[in-house]
Parts: sequence; C-alpha cells; structure tokens
Amino acid sequence: MIEFSFTAEQEALRTGIRAFLEKEVLPIVAEIDESETFPTTSVRKMQSEGYFGVPIPEEYGGLGLGKVGYCILLEELGRVDASHGTIVGAHTSLGTTPLLYYGTAAQKRRWLTPAARGEKLLAFSLTESGSGSDSGSMRLTAERVGDKFVLTGTKLYVTNGREADAVIVMALTDPALGPNGGVTAFVVDRGSPGFRVGRCEKKMGLHGSSTAELIFDHVEVPAENVVGEVGKGFLVAMTALDVGRVSLGAASLGAIESAGEMALKFAQERTQFGHPIAEFEAIQFKLADMAMHAHALRYLVYQAAAHQDQMGHDPSTWGRLERQQKTRESATVKCLGSEWASEAIDEALQIHGGLGYIRGTPIERAYRDARIAEIFEGTNEIQRLVVARDLMTRGF
Ligand SMILES: Cc1cc2nc3c(=O)[nH]c(=O)nc-3n(C[C@H](O)[C@H](O)[C@H](O)COP(=O)(O)OP(=O)(O)OC[C@H]3O[C@@H](n4cnc5c(N)ncnc54)[C@H](O)[C@@H]3O)c2cc1C
Repeated sequence: MIEFSFTAEQEALRTGIRAFLEKEVLPIVAEIDESETFPTTSVRKMQSEGYFGVPIPEEYGGLGLGKVGYCILLEELGRVDASHGTIVGAHTSLGTTPLLYYGTAAQKRRWLTPAARGEKLLAFSLTESGSGSDSGSMRLTAERVGDKFVLTGTKLYVTNGREADAVIVMALTDPALGPNGGVTAFVVDRGSPGFRVGRCEKKMGLHGSSTAELIFDHVEVPAENVVGEVGKGFLVAMTALDVGRVSLGAASLGAIESAGEMALKFAQERTQFGHPIAEFEAIQFKLADMAMHAHALRYLVYQAAAHQDQMGHDPSTWGRLERQQKTRESATVKCLGSEWASEAIDEALQIHGGLGYIRGTPIERAYRDARIAEIFEGTNEIQRLVVARDLMTRGF
C-alpha cells in the first residue's frame, strides 16, 4: 500500500504556521515590498517559534519535523510571501544542511544548534561574477597557511548576505583540480577581519530579502571551519542544493495555490457581459490548469521530501543510485514547480485584467516574486541538464 496522508503532527504544524503567517506576516507583506526592507521583527518571531529549524533534529535545537515538515512550512510561506520563504530557505536548506550532513560535533554545537534555535542566521555563498551555472569555475581562493586558510575573492548574489551571522562559503583550495577535488566548503563568521558586505542588489521582486556581494580580503579561517573534507566542497554544495530545490518546489506549490484562490474568487465576483467571468470557458480552463498543476506538484514535492527523510542525513550511508535518484527528483520538482508557478501566476494576473497590472496588488507582487525561482539554486536549463545526464547513465 502507498500511504499519501499527512500525520496529525504534520497537520498541526500546517495549522500553526498558517495562523502565525496570517497574523504576523500577511499584514506587513505589501509594506515590505514597497519599502524594500528586511522584515526583522517577523523574522525574529519566526525564529522564536522554531521555524528556522523545522527539519533539524531536536538534539541540535530543531523541531525534528524532517523535510516533509520543512516543505509544509515552505508551502505555507509560498502562499503568503516569497521574501520570507527565501530568507528561511537560504538559511535552512543551504545554510544548515552542510552543517547537519557534513559538520563535525563541534561545528554542530557552535553553528548548527544556534541556527536551528533561531539565534543565528545563515547564508550560503557559491556564485561569483564569472561563475554562476558553471559554479565549478569559481575564483575565490582559500590558501592553506599553517593551521589556517586565507580566503581571498568576491562572491555575488548572496541571499541573507547582509544580515547573516555566518556564511557557508565555497572556495578553491586547488585551482588545478577545480570542482573535482579542488573546492572546499568553509563556515565563516560575520565578524572575521577582512570580511565585509559589499553592494546589495535592487531587484524585480523578493524585496524583503537581501541579495549581497561578499568581499573576502585575506580572511583568515581556522582549519576547523572546513565543512566536510578539504576538496569535497562541491559535494557539500550539491547536497544542500538538492534540499533547496525540493523546498523551492514546495514554495512554488504555495504560490500556485494562492494565485489560483485569488483568481477563482475574482472570477466569481467580476461580472462582464452580464455574467461572472468564471462562467466563461476560457477563464475556467485557466483555473483548471492551475488546479491540475497544484495537484501534480503536491505529490512530486512530498514524495521527494519523504524520500530525503527516508535517506537520513548521513551521506556515508547513501548508495550511488539512491543519491542520483534524489538529485533527479530535486531537479524535477524545482524545474516543474517554478515553471508551473510562473504560468499560474501569469494566468491569474490575466484573469484580474487591468487590475492585475496595478502596482501593489497581491497578484502583481506575486508575478514579480515568482520569476526568480526559474533562475536561482540552478537555472531550469541546468535542472534539465541534470535530469538529461541522469537519463544518459540510468535511463528513464
Ligand atoms: C535573487 C537572487 C538570489 C540568489 N541567491 C543566491 C545565494 O544565496 N547563493 C548563491 O551562491 N547564489 C545565489 N544566487 C545566484 C544564482 O544561483 C545564479 O544567478 C544562477 O545560478 C545563475 O547563474 P548566473 O546568474 O551567473 O547565470 P549564467 O550561469 O551566466 O546563465 C545565463 C544563462 O545561460 C544559461 N546556461 C548557462 N550554462 C548553460 C548550459 N550548460 N546549458 C544551457 N544553458 C546554460 C542559463 O540557464 C541562463 O539562462 C542568487 C541570484 C539571485 C538573482
């Protein structure tokens, strides 16, 4: 038998999150978008509720609700505000996963536990001006000097980069090897001498989330800050991205649901030619497509999340085929989810007519916020490449 239902604990989590977001986040979403400010107060409240540590085991300060619980959080955030979803996602998927899966006991005590409890905010820094999709071609170097590494270079587009207390940074420890043995993951504290935040980008959407340049000017990092093994940083980054891509799919699911609900309500209320526009088949078909995509995505997201929960967080126990399957599932969920969300929001905006194009309406904001999901955590071209490469080795 295949079991597709949520447990009572998971349902209670969803109810609690939904009530919290309606009270604490929904009322401030328009203002955050307009003023382009990081939502410090609501983030602090989310941190104290434990929402920055949902999938982290209780022994490390988290709620212990796994990837399924985490996707419930991201789905609910996706319904309300993409900026809050992005802040939580960068911290949890990309910041805590390297520490949970590859960190030493000391690293878990020093960074993971406070991060899960909401006392420290994390960021993840892979992208550089010359290396985006081709992330292995990074230039930021980490040179070994005695029992330290010296990091020199500049990173780009770091979510939470302006606010984070610590950043997971990918650096080149052996330029000759590149991504295959030459990249290492480090955890770097905000106050480290030589580390500073550079330019913060003005963006089309996600106005509540910072996207920062990080400058490393001969930053000395002790060897005990290496996350995982020296030379295995690319694997650390890709493992974190597998988690992130599933949670992005969950956020896309929430975005489709809220766009669909807004469009349905509007279509039932708006009258033209003497009828609610919801009676016109052209409108009904748009709504039907949204509902079908939401239905399909719900299964994709929670299957992939449940699979990651089943695999656990000790990479040394994973078989090669299982790892490949996980990566293919994550790429599929992220790619289809983000495209279906963009499509649903575009059609929901169309159903709103001219009103959908007016600045400050929820559907206009959703339209601007959604587009990035097709680009970050690996563009959708790269997700298709990941699936295609897997097809070439494992077949359909
Ligand atoms: C708001 C925002 C937040 C972000 N947050 C983070 C973060 O927290 N941490 C971080 O490290 N990065 C972050 N990024 C960076 C993001 O992940 C990259 O922008 C993304 O991976 C694409 O890289 P790029 O912009 O350099 O585009 P490029 O890699 O230059 O790609 C340009 C185009 O070429 C296509 N392309 C490239 N190679 C291929 C190929 N082999 N086959 C087919 N098409 C290809 C791409 O799909 C794309 O359409 C963020 C970016 C933004 C905008």
